[in-house]
Amino acid sequence: MSARRALVTGITGQDGGYLAELLLADGVEVHGLVHHEDALAAEFARTHPEAVLHPGDLADHAGLRALVEEVEPDEVYNLAGVSSVAFSWEHPVTTAELTGVAAAVMLQGALAVQERSGRRVSFVQASSSEIFGEASTFPQDETTPVRPVSPYGAAKAFAHHMVTVYRGKGLHATSCILFNHESPRRPPTFVTRKITAAAARIGRDGHGTIQLGNLDARRDWGWAPDYVDAMVRAARHATAEDFVIATGETHTVAEFAETALRRAGVGDDWRRHVEVDPELLRPVDTPLMVGDAGKVRRELGWQPTVGFAELVAQMVDHDVELLQDR
Ligand code: GDP
Repeated sequence: MSARRALVTGITGQDGGYLAELLLADGVEVHGLVHHEDALAAEFARTHPEAVLHPGDLADHAGLRALVEEVEPDEVYNLAGVSSVAFSWEHPVTTAELTGVAAAVMLQGALAVQERSGRRVSFVQASSSEIFGEASTFPQDETTPVRPVSPYGAAKAFAHHMVTVYRGKGLHATSCILFNHESPRRPPTFVTRKITAAAARIGRDGHGTIQLGNLDARRDWGWAPDYVDAMVRAARHATAEDFVIATGETHTVAEFAETALRRAGVGDDWRRHVEVDPELLRPVDTPLMVGDAGKVRRELGWQPTVGFAELVAQMVDHDVELLQDR
């Protein structure tokens, strides 16, 4: 029997890389869609020579559909799209197109492959806690109402609903509702990596500050490789269902900064190295995000393998190493 094939969109991102590595280690033939302007594509190709990369564009519906039909995947992981809420406010239409409509095209292609081949095609949508918007219940689970408050959340919500629609048509389509998940591969536009990169510098130099916005925001920060593992489990589960992927534990931005600075060797002096810049406060900011991952734990036997302190330590240590390599 030939190897299972997977098609991954967003393969050059944080989650795409971890997912590709997990699938390749599992003997899966991995195909990825890469945009011609993607600055990370060349490096990804160099570090993952076994992956087959296909140039393409999420906005080119005919090309996207043709790619799904050409690859004939057993598993589709749709991770691509606009990844920042801030960008989505500036470009709501592009966000709808790339994060919302492209998912519909991929679903349509996956169902066509399944109907033509008679083989099961599993479709995993990387959904987001942003679909819940300013939720009024905590923690959020699969039954929490979908009520986005940003163009990003609305586009993700459309894709999320389309997964349910295509599941109704017989596709093994599942939505993994991912809460914040971090790693040394997070870009510094996210607060976690911004903090660990700065902490590493402060630890080396003995001076300097991290400029931050809302120190009291609480997030449910998980370990990205654990989250892609959950997506693979969902793809291979007997039934197609939605799953919240989260740790259920929250920490404030201030706690993240303290843990990172202590890890970098700053000790009790850490407070002197954190400053609030009012410019970095967001006009709309969710004070608390926390997920209830009871279902994925029960049904898929999933659990987080890296807790908060270790997550921070791994990110700081990576940034310390990057400084030493210079
Ligand atoms: P998000 O939860 O997807 O928006 O992920 P982020 O990592 O961008 O932000 C997490 C939380 O950290 C939000 O509540 C931000 O308001 C807060 N935060 C505080 N200071 C900063 C900062 O300097 N940069 C970013 N990106 N977020 C910050």
